[in-house]
Amino acid sequence: MKAIGMIRGKSGVQAFDLPKPEISQLNEVLIQVKEAGVDGTDFNMVKHNLQDIAEDSDEIVMGHEMVGVVEAVGSEVRSVAPGNTVVMTVRRGCGICQPCLHNQSDMCMTGLYTERGIHKRDGFFTEFVVDEEQYVVKVPANLAKLVVFTEPLSIAEKGIEQIRLIQSRLPWACEHPDHTFSSPDWGRCKTALVIGAGPLGILATALLRLVEVYAYVVDIVPEDSPKVHLIKHMGANYIDGRNKNPKEIVDFCCSASGNVDIIFEASGAASTAIELINYMSRSSIYIMTGIPREELVLQVDAAQVVRQIVRYNQVVVGSVNSNRSHFEMALKDIPAINSKFGGMLEEMITHHFTLRDYELIFAPTDQNRIKTVIDIAPWE
Ligand SMILES: [Zn+2]
Ligand SMILES: [Zn+2]
Repeated sequence: MKAIGMIRGKSGVQAFDLPKPEISQLNEVLIQVKEAGVDGTDFNMVKHNLQDIAEDSDEIVMGHEMVGVVEAVGSEVRSVAPGNTVVMTVRRGCGICQPCLHNQSDMCMTGLYTERGIHKRDGFFTEFVVDEEQYVVKVPANLAKLVVFTEPLSIAEKGIEQIRLIQSRLPWACEHPDHTFSSPDWGRCKTALVIGAGPLGILATALLRLVEVYAYVVDIVPEDSPKVHLIKHMGANYIDGRNKNPKEIVDFCCSASGNVDIIFEASGAASTAIELINYMSRSSIYIMTGIPREELVLQVDAAQVVRQIVRYNQVVVGSVNSNRSHFEMALKDIPAINSKFGGMLEEMITHHFTLRDYELIFAPTDQNRIKTVIDIAPWE
């Protein structure tokens, strides 16, 4: 079967053939991959030649966003059956630490985990995959064409979950007791600034707008970009960051409410990410999800930053990966987002390719590309 990935000793993306995997344990599921999503991590792997290949292998199949259909199951598998539409989680826990032993490998404490398509384990840019039932999540068949977004949305879900968990320290953010971060209406009377209008920034904005957060999204694309169209379609505001410094960006979103309660960093632009800490509001939270790849040395007034974080009770928190619970949250929110914002998920898929197009997928692209999907097998 065909696969796209990286080969030890060769730079760039490669296509190769692999034997079709087979079920070897009673708790395993064999899945035919129907679609796989490409994201910034994949582009960075190719661009920076980040080869994170298992010691006992000479290649890694890339891809960590997928939807597929179960072809066969081991005799102990109960939650899925042949014909079911499914998605798969990415990280496989270390098997040692308590978070990993309790279905929370996204918070692994040893770092000895693996990740399908990223870190020492084959991913989903291929035709068939086998894994244990615990990593396979059943999807309603009527959502099949949308759930390639489950993994990226699960990253946004975890980020928002972290914000709500941490900010529940602040039950009186506004005068309405039903707007606390732990209540269903938590988004009201809140302002958020999202950095980056890539797929993750757009999906985070969708979750924020779903609960009526006033959202501002900053990127460096012109107003007529399809990204800006999506942002405005969700009732969020676009800030063209090309001619604004971090202070001007925050002043722009503060002008309505006086406070920016949440900053959600989804660009990996390290300099802006760090400089924005200086303009956080009192008692606010700043979540970072973008991963910068290039070295960047900045001069900062360290005393000022520490003084401000202490005096203003500020939280700066990182969030990576997601676990099964975030996939389940994403599967609940996918139909809600798509109906509230008029088919926006379909609109986000700007590029379709097949496995044969492996060089085109990773060729330099324009700023109008949002989500790339590889069509691997036709839907029945
Ligand atoms: Zn662990
Ligand atoms: Zn309120």
